[in-house]
Formats: sequence, C-alpha cells, structure tokens
Amino acid sequence: MAADASILTPATPAPPYDAARVRRDFPILATHVSGHPLVYLDSAASSQQPLAVLRAVEDYATHSHANVHRGVHALSQAATAAFEGARERVRRFIAAPSTREIVFVRGTTEAINLVAQAYARPRFGPGDEILITALEHHANIVPWQMVCEQTGCTLKVAPINRRGELLTEELEQLLSPRTRLVAIAHVSNALGTVLPVKRIVDAAHAQGAVVVVDGAQAVPHARVDVRALGADFYAFSGHKMYAPTGIGVLYAREELLGAMPPWQGGGDMIRTVSFEKSTWNELPWRFEAGTPNISGAVGLAAAMDYLEDLGIEAVAAHESRLLALATAELARLPGITLVGTAARKASVLSFTLAGVHAHDLGTILDTQGVAVRTGHHCAMPVMTFFGIPATARASFGCYNTEEDVARFIAAVARAREVFA
Ligand code: PLP
Repeated sequence: MAADASILTPATPAPPYDAARVRRDFPILATHVSGHPLVYLDSAASSQQPLAVLRAVEDYATHSHANVHRGVHALSQAATAAFEGARERVRRFIAAPSTREIVFVRGTTEAINLVAQAYARPRFGPGDEILITALEHHANIVPWQMVCEQTGCTLKVAPINRRGELLTEELEQLLSPRTRLVAIAHVSNALGTVLPVKRIVDAAHAQGAVVVVDGAQAVPHARVDVRALGADFYAFSGHKMYAPTGIGVLYAREELLGAMPPWQGGGDMIRTVSFEKSTWNELPWRFEAGTPNISGAVGLAAAMDYLEDLGIEAVAAHESRLLALATAELARLPGITLVGTAARKASVLSFTLAGVHAHDLGTILDTQGVAVRTGHHCAMPVMTFFGIPATARASFGCYNTEEDVARFIAAVARAREVFA
C-alpha cells in the first residue's frame, strides 16, 4: 500500500486470508471467559502475541541472553547480534534509510517524550508554536504541554468535525513561520480516523516545521514507509503490533537526531566519562542509556517477521472487511450511536448505547466473553468534543473473525435487553 493511501480501501484485491488459521497461532485466544470462548476486540489497547513471538523471546532467553555491547564473551556477542539484528529488522520494516535512525524505547509515549525533551525543549521559546490536532492520544498532547510550560512556547490545536475527521484545511491555516513542530496521529485510537499524513508533512515542511507522527495505531494495520511519508520523527509501540510490552521505536531523521543532546544519561550512551566532562556515543546508542529491553527487541523483530509473512496488506484488507461488517451490524441496533464515522478509518469502532455507561456495557459484554475497551481511551479532549464521558471501543486485529463480529453484535444486543 502506498504510504498515505486509504487503509480502509486497499487499491489491490485482497489475497485469500484465513483468519481461523491465524487465530490458532495465538494460544491466549483459546481462553474461556465466564464460560464463553474469548472474543478479543481490544487490540488497539494491546494486541496478543503469536507463538512465533513467544518462541523467539523464549529462545533468546534460553540460548543467547547476556548484556549487550559490553562483553567480549560469546553470550554477550550473541545478545548484541540479536539486539542489533532486531534494529535492522525494524529499519527494513519501516523503510528507514539507516539503523542510526532507529532508537529503541519503551513505547510510543517514551518516543514522543524523547522528541519533546531532546528536540523541542532546547530549541523552542516564546513566540514559537507547536501544532497538534484535536484527536490526539494524551501521549501526543501532554509532552507538548510540558514543553510549552518549560520554554514559553504555545500549543495550537487543529479542529475536527462531527465525523471525527481532521479539518485539514484549518490545520494548514494554523501553520505559519512560527510553527516549529507539528505532532499528529497517523490513526486515531479513539475514533479510528486515518489522517492525511503526507499532505500535512508537506504543508508543515513548507513552513519550516518538523513533523512528529504518532504511529501507534497505524503500524499494525498498514505498510508504513517513513521515507515516502517524509516524517521527521515516527513513533510506535511493539505491544500494539503483536510484540511484547516495554519495547517501541522512535524513528528520527539522522540529521535531526545527530544534532540533539542526549535526554537520559548513564551507561551505553557515552563514549568517555571523566569527572570533568563526558562525551557521547554514536547514534543511535546516544539515546539508549542503560540496559535496553533486549528480549523485547527480539520479540518485536519476530512480530515484524510474522506480520510480513501474513502480508500486511492482506491483514489490513481483512480488518477493513470486519470493520465494515461490524459497523453496519451495530448501526442497526436501536440506541447505538457510532462515535467516529470518518470516511477513512482503520480497525476501531467506538460507540455508545443510550442510557448506559460504557463501563456497564463493557462489563455485560465481558460476562459473554467479549473483551472491548471502555472509557476515554486516553483521549479526553475527544470525549469532551463529542460531549460524552466515554465510549465502548471494539478494535480488530489479524486474528479476528466474522464469528467474533457476530458474537460481539449478539452480546451488545443482549446488553440492550439487560438495560432495557
Ligand atoms: N498514541 C496512540 C494513538 C495510542 O493508541 C497509544 C496507546 O494506546 C499511545 C500513543 C501510547 O502508547 P504506549 O502506551 O504504548 O506508549
């Protein structure tokens, strides 16, 4: 898929996709909840891990574990090879030009905070502006508010419409030579909206601003090519793309990363240390102080292999079909309001049921073995915009089936009866 093409409607016909077989790769999906086979519709919060990832992590811990970069002994070299091999895997996965631009972090949150503290904070001051959108996750709001407090720069917010679509022209009007940085989601976690990243990147660059893309909800559902997108920084989390928790990636253009001061000090990020002065390591290790999450990186690389073996385009097309099916079925139920009806959506279906708090709805679904997320989804401003405290959110992954959709719809219908 072209980097900025619609995730919902891939240009080429989908290859055959056997979700029932894919499901068998994920042992946890055999779990029963309240006596029902689990229907897992919470992959946007955290996806499950296939055997290939679980085994890669186990294999690493069983045969290759030691600390990286520091040892001359065989295991340390094996661990270093596994860790740096994972970095190369990530580079290929997002088509980054160099492994020097791939920083391992805990997740999207840490990646964005790194950019905020090491790129924005030392450079920005009063009169400068940071531009975000109204549909961001808190991880792409709060770090910028902190920078504004620290430097005196100003936060601007581009609006959305009632369908949950970004008003791109209004965003473009907010851009000016004062805009130093634009931070946008690739896909909204609360609404599923796909943003026109390439268009925004081009408009921001024309004003001399750099662009940070929060790719947490995009990378599991679309082929991302950071070079084609032109993003200066691109952040994502392993645990939303079938890898373990505690590992994520910041892609940063080498030219920018090389000019940034380190943001955390400690082992591995230095070249020399004396009490008078320390000097910094090469990229990307300058930004990886302390012992990294080695097994997490190994798991992330295995998850990328797994996704590419399935075919990212095939997964995306399958999820789009499930989303379209679930949307149509859910909209038929009286009392349901869909929250987020953008023309371009990926994998997320947020909704409310009249007169029922989302948490109560989620609890009733859980008693039927159906796992959905309920709450504000770390996007309180989105809830405020729609005038609601919370939504229930079903989100789809590579292992969901049409049967899952049918069970989900039946569970919501049952909940309507319970609360009638
Ligand atoms: N951005 C988006 C769009 C998300 O959906 C999430 C997680 O839900 C995050 C950022 C934060 O990711 P993490 O908690 O893995 O750092």
